[in-house]
Amino acid sequence: MLSADDSYRAKTRHRAKRLEKVRTRVKLGKALSEKAIPGTVMTSIGPSWLVNANDELFLCTVSGTVDSPHPFTIVTVGDVVWFEPDRESTLYGQPTGTIVKVAERVTLLSRRAAGRARKEQVLVANVDQLAIVVAAAQPAYHKRLIDRYLIAADKGDLRPLIIVNKVDLIPEEYRPDLVEDFAAYWDDLHIPVLFLSAETGEGFDEFKEVVDGASTLMAGPSGVGKSSIINTLSDARLRVGEISEMYSKGRHTTTAALVIPLPEGGSIVDSPGIREFGMWDLDKDELPYYFDEFAPFQNECRFAPCSHTHEPGCAVKQAVEEGKIDPERYESYVILLEGIDADDPRR
Ligand code: GDP
Ligand code: ZN
Repeated sequence: MLSADDSYRAKTRHRAKRLEKVRTRVKLGKALSEKAIPGTVMTSIGPSWLVNANDELFLCTVSGTVDSPHPFTIVTVGDVVWFEPDRESTLYGQPTGTIVKVAERVTLLSRRAAGRARKEQVLVANVDQLAIVVAAAQPAYHKRLIDRYLIAADKGDLRPLIIVNKVDLIPEEYRPDLVEDFAAYWDDLHIPVLFLSAETGEGFDEFKEVVDGASTLMAGPSGVGKSSIINTLSDARLRVGEISEMYSKGRHTTTAALVIPLPEGGSIVDSPGIREFGMWDLDKDELPYYFDEFAPFQNECRFAPCSHTHEPGCAVKQAVEEGKIDPERYESYVILLEGIDADDPRR
């Protein structure tokens, strides 16, 4: 069976290869002026980028001769940039600046842009983990959705973790059942599962250890407490909210992804566009490979390829019957497979 380490190494190789490809497009840049300072792009506000440099926020535009290794999405949320600050001129109460250089991206989450050209649109750069947030109650959680997010994390090369918020709503005597219900994730798949309450602060010490120093994208259905969790960690979201409100008065604006720096280093990324993403471009044949716990069995199936549904002599189904694969995870697999079938225009 592929260990968690092996699969992580494989992904890192994949990532390095992708970086190489990007690098070949780099045009040798102009020299940086002495005025330029580094910062992180937190969000977009209208035509400008909000850049955080040592906790000071600048509204920046992009220089006409920007030095960026990214020909299509020149700047995106999460990018590390160099910009020339201009504290004399302000916009919506913030000092302004001009972005002159964009750094290589370590990771990126993208989707195919709408329209026929199907260009890649980078939604957010430099995220390294995906926090899948659900509520213990109100609203009830659905494991199908968790499993979909796990596949998305795998596709985006993000380390997953599962957050079960609102544990304060569960009476003490039912807590062990709640923990047990997530056993397949931490036991079989070695995915961290954290039980939190944004209401009482329970579980936040452990949560901070997991997010400090990393860049964590928050995903999950609305109402589970993502905003409450973020506000508990940092007030940056509220500060950014004030600036974007000044901009958006009387305008129709879409909410952009937002990078929230954490006091101890690292950041939380809140992206409405990604919060409820589905599965892009998932092929029927590759689906079983996103279920790591099938790996030790699927070479033993009588037929190859095997969809692990109706075939006789299927080792995966047998493992489910013998309790070696979690039946709910298997059910997720079957439902997802049916979903792909339904979407497939060839059928
Ligand atoms: P989001 O849509 O995921 O960003 O969720 P919000 O942060 O807006 O929270 C939705 C609702 O759940 C709000 O009314 C919050 O006050 C409430 N809420 C958030 N976290 C908790 C929690 O840990 N316990 C309880 N009881 N309520 C919470
Ligand atoms: Zn099979």
